[in-house]
Amino acid sequence: MRIQNPSLDLCIRSVFLIFNLNALCWAGFEGKSNANIPIRVLLERRVKHVDIRPTTGAVRFQIDNAEARELTLNLNIHWLESGGIRVNGRRLDASTVRVHPAIEGGHLQMAAQVHVGDLTIRRESNGLSIVNQLPLESYLVGTLAAEMNQFWDLEALKAQAVASRSFARDAIRHARHPDFDIEGSTNDQAFAGAGVVNEKIERAVRETVGVLLWEGTRPLKAFFHSRCGGTTQSAREVWQDSSAKTQSVACPYCRKNPARWKMIVQRDQLIRAFGFEPAPGALALSASRNPSGRVTKIMLLSEGLERNLSINELRSRLGFTRLRSAIFDWQLTRDFAIFEGRGFGHGVGLCQWGAQYLAKMGKDFLGILRHYYPGVRIASG
Ligand SMILES: [Zn+2]
Repeated sequence: MRIQNPSLDLCIRSVFLIFNLNALCWAGFEGKSNANIPIRVLLERRVKHVDIRPTTGAVRFQIDNAEARELTLNLNIHWLESGGIRVNGRRLDASTVRVHPAIEGGHLQMAAQVHVGDLTIRRESNGLSIVNQLPLESYLVGTLAAEMNQFWDLEALKAQAVASRSFARDAIRHARHPDFDIEGSTNDQAFAGAGVVNEKIERAVRETVGVLLWEGTRPLKAFFHSRCGGTTQSAREVWQDSSAKTQSVACPYCRKNPARWKMIVQRDQLIRAFGFEPAPGALALSASRNPSGRVTKIMLLSEGLERNLSINELRSRLGFTRLRSAIFDWQLTRDFAIFEGRGFGHGVGLCQWGAQYLAKMGKDFLGILRHYYPGVRIASG
């Protein structure tokens, strides 16, 4: 998935930077309103224990709504099957622990990740959930670190920063859970913690601070994906989501990088994915495709029975990282189904590998965004 560090000449970079700053000013991106609105990121769910320590100083924590805030150098919380939680060895009939760094500028470390802001640990029926609350712009540093290669070109990182910011603002607006706005995983946007600073990623966020994609008066739910394989597709084609108007565009750029994949699945596993019990006999697949060549529906015929699945359902059942995209053909052998395709991801919105190619060719982040989100307004807000 990773590419070599692009070796752009520093002078050329400087010229692009000046050009981009001019472009930003010209476009009227002056305001930084809403730059520091908080976002609540679900880090973990259903874990049985968590250890938190400060990067410097101490950890301050509050149990439920107790007035007292306690200090510790290490905080460990266990989920108890019999009810309640155990906090640093104390068994408590409590459900929530709010954790803050005790000194200003301190961060909280949890396993390998370092987090900016506060953590809230909640007891749920099947384990602990962990939510990180932090400023939106800090969150973007942590999501870019997980979603993009830090060695990629700055303009590609900036395009991703704007797309991720817009996606996050839409998520805050439509929070689908009372305790968090967004999942820190590929269900929404991957997130690696915002406490480990990468200078280039920070710069990409800082130089686009507050900039969003807009659909009318609302931030666009700006979908993105790894590699489209030649053509992106509209949100409506994938999710029948009429609220997101992202269109299909040509993207010959990501094909410059190897994007072909092959997946071999056992015959019985394929039959089970369609909800049948495996049985010997004839087997056939047929598919409906959209104009960009992607499979939209796929039908399995087995022993006179047939069943249709949407491509999203089939990818979910076989694994999104195995059946990597909806652009594929197949062969059936006696024991196996062999899928061969190209692209990686749902194909909607910004194509990350295409964005990197365009950036290397000298396009700035505004040009990249205008290519993948045609007709969408770009402005701060
Ligand atoms: Zn592409």
